[in-house]
Amino acid sequence: MGKIEKEEIQKRLDRITEIFTEIVAHADVQTADRCPYKNRYNECTAVFGCRNQRKPRLGGELKMCGGDDKLDYRNAWETGEADYKGKAPKG
Ligand code: SF4
Repeated sequence: MGKIEKEEIQKRLDRITEIFTEIVAHADVQTADRCPYKNRYNECTAVFGCRNQRKPRLGGELKMCGGDDKLDYRNAWETGEADYKGKAPKG
């Protein structure tokens, strides 16, 4: 592979920056609609308590999310240290 000109490197960096800017903007919009801890099966992956958590489905390990995504879900989070202790993901 030949030497890449400084100008070409800058062009590529600018393009990458543009792509990431679009991704971040999309993520910002999406997190306003849907809790980032809710997975595609509507299960809660948070390691803290949340008033929207419901019993896991039969045979499931993760609690179900009872949030309707219409309200600001962040008010339901229980973010005290006691809520987090012992719930950290293993691995
Ligand atoms: S239960 Fe709470 S933290 Fe978990 S996914 Fe639903 S809104 Fe998010």
